[in-house]
Amino acid sequence: MKKYFIRKLFRSAFLMAGAMFFSISFVKAQTKAEIESAIKEAYEKFKDLKEGKNADYIKELATVDPNIFGIAVVTTDGQVITLGDIKSMVSIQSVSKVFTMAKVLEEQGPQAIQDKIGVDATGLRFNSIVAVELQKGKEINPLVNPGAIASSSLIGGADSAAKMKNIMDIHSAFAGRELSLNWPVYVSEAGDNLRNQAIAHLLKAYGRMYFDPVQATDIYTKQCAINVNAKDLAVMAGTLANGGVNPVTKKKVVSPSTVMYTLPVMVTAGLYDNAGIWLFNTGLPAKSGVGGGLLAVVPGKFGIAVVSPPLDAAGNSVKAQKVIAYVVDKLKLNPYLITPKN
Ligand code: GLU
Repeated sequence: MKKYFIRKLFRSAFLMAGAMFFSISFVKAQTKAEIESAIKEAYEKFKDLKEGKNADYIKELATVDPNIFGIAVVTTDGQVITLGDIKSMVSIQSVSKVFTMAKVLEEQGPQAIQDKIGVDATGLRFNSIVAVELQKGKEINPLVNPGAIASSSLIGGADSAAKMKNIMDIHSAFAGRELSLNWPVYVSEAGDNLRNQAIAHLLKAYGRMYFDPVQATDIYTKQCAINVNAKDLAVMAGTLANGGVNPVTKKKVVSPSTVMYTLPVMVTAGLYDNAGIWLFNTGLPAKSGVGGGLLAVVPGKFGIAVVSPPLDAAGNSVKAQKVIAYVVDKLKLNPYLITPKN
């Protein structure tokens, strides 16, 4: 009997040591020097690229300097590495959808997101009205406009101001500093967002809007106008990479479970109609916005973000996609790149 227990003890010690070795080798951090050299190479390689064009369907975005080009990495142990322009602020736009969704997940759990919004790719453009109509408001997800406006309607807060404060607070907690609104961008979009208002009303007609549709659209439009730079976005991505604890402030922002349910939606729908191509090339959860920001999450290792306003036809920053894909390749970060054991 005693022998049995000793054997059992040895066996569990052995398994534990094995598991520890596995997790350490799996999340083995790239050194700061390796990351610095990879982003420097990418910066040099793509800095003169002239492809793409600023979004102009929101008039104010057409006036943003297309030469803004900043890269930032924030590791899960709190190192911040930046290159290029990290001073210029751009509006966060669709990248905000991730953090509002995360807060709704935190408040209401994954079942509510599944039942009240959906987590499937629509296969249609991010602001498609047809996508809502085809599925009677179902089978959408929080990273396209209908699902994002529904998230803004679901977020905690008794009235519009309280909901907006909740959204500002969660974005600031993810970024590790108090963020603020870009009013000209907000005013510019708010005066011209009939399409998003139509989406919100159609959702309401199908019983899938959980607050006044005009106010929910307004909250959503404001959240899209939050000002960020590449470093802010990288801290936000780093917080997701670190299971919901901000690696810079060390504060818990959301639970590991919320992150676990957030990342797959980013994989499914993070880069508009090119989410599949992005995943094929990088294997990473990511989110872009028409302001020119793009962030990607390397789970357990780091968050990386690039700001560069010119977009491709799908609405993703051209330089940002190229820089991140280059770094992923260089540092072998694709989680589906598996080293055989023998
Ligand atoms: N505020 C923008 C819209 O609703 C966000 C679009 C985006 O970044 O994809 O059209």
